[in-house]
Amino acid sequence: MALLSCPECGNSVSDRAPTCPNCGLPVSEVVQSARVDDARDAAIYAPAEAYLNEHRVYRAAFLKFDANNGRPVVTWSWVALLFGLFWYLYRGMWAKAGIQFLVVTFTAGAAAPFVWLYAVLYGKYDYYLYAVQGKQMW
Ligand SMILES: [Zn+2]
Repeated sequence: MALLSCPECGNSVSDRAPTCPNCGLPVSEVVQSARVDDARDAAIYAPAEAYLNEHRVYRAAFLKFDANNGRPVVTWSWVALLFGLFWYLYRGMWAKAGIQFLVVTFTAGAAAPFVWLYAVLYGKYDYYLYAVQGKQMW
């Protein structure tokens, strides 16, 4: 048995009762209202849980991007410096890893320092776009 809050009068209602004892609202509607609340809570808290599951290095960067309304902020990524596009692949950002690979290949390596620098300075932002906003691209 669960106690639910009646959306009409705010009274506590058992989910086994036929109606709200205070205002008479059918319990099916009380249950429906509780489901809508649960879905809304999940929508609010799921992104927060994604933050909590991240390493603190990313969490700190994500908060900077949030503070900038989701727009890019230059950060420094040691892992991108060490592993470049392999880090992108490891983090699931295969589209940007592919772009980096193609750019470096078609310039016969000439663009590699710039691509690398981009990854170092914007890697965390790219990961923010991917992990928080669900975007492979910008
Ligand atoms: Zn009620």
